[in-house]
Amino acid sequence: MKRKKIAAGNWKMNFLPQDVDQFIETFQPNTANAEVMIGAPSIYLERLLALKTKGVQILAQDVSIHEKGAFTGEVSAEMLAALGVNGAIVGHSERRTYHHETDEIIGQKVNACLRAHITAVYCCGELLAERQAGHQEKVVEQQIRVALSHLTKEEAVKIVVAYEPVWAIGTGVTASDEQAEEMHAFIRQVMSAIWDADTAAQIRILYGGSVNAANADALFACPNVDGGLVGGASLKVSDFTSICQSANA
Ligand code: PEP
Repeated sequence: MKRKKIAAGNWKMNFLPQDVDQFIETFQPNTANAEVMIGAPSIYLERLLALKTKGVQILAQDVSIHEKGAFTGEVSAEMLAALGVNGAIVGHSERRTYHHETDEIIGQKVNACLRAHITAVYCCGELLAERQAGHQEKVVEQQIRVALSHLTKEEAVKIVVAYEPVWAIGTGVTASDEQAEEMHAFIRQVMSAIWDADTAAQIRILYGGSVNAANADALFACPNVDGGLVGGASLKVSDFTSICQSANA
């Protein structure tokens, strides 16, 4: 099954408006054979819609589990969809760590995206201590089962999974190609057990954790790696353009 690769940027809490405008002006990614996404602070989402004319999809970095109401500071999936935003990153490790998001909550965020017909990019991944103890598969399987196993097959194929080992995020330490492929193949096996092999074969699994212009080619060439979720390197137009090119190969 041929899956279209994705190069997704996660800007986190970076850039001032003038930086965003400069990025919009200069970013010219190849979207012929790959999907290109940018996850930006919500205050910049409307501005970034301009990039849709270059084939770029725009993501929020989080979404509320609620549809509307008295939830100060929150943004609903319906609001994102109505604005023209294509999806949301959910369950990023920084949200899990600093905002105590659990897989039950993240599963509800996935549901909120599905209700609003936008893409959920579901992040999972083990901590360093969990890998050192050899528990990475157990941890990631548990995350996926708790957050996603309630989805129907039709819903499951609409989401994107990002495997982001926490020890590789923003550290400059990248998982080796072998480590990434091994975990991605395992995740696909877990998804196959939850739904079926055909459904699992359709779901894109991105690798995230210190992806850069130099290592993207090799990582994205792994059979079960369907592209990347890119933090730091997505802030530099030239680096991210090169990573998008790797996804096109
Ligand atoms: C991320 O923010 O999801 C990420 C993987 O960051 P970095 O590429 O900087 O490690």
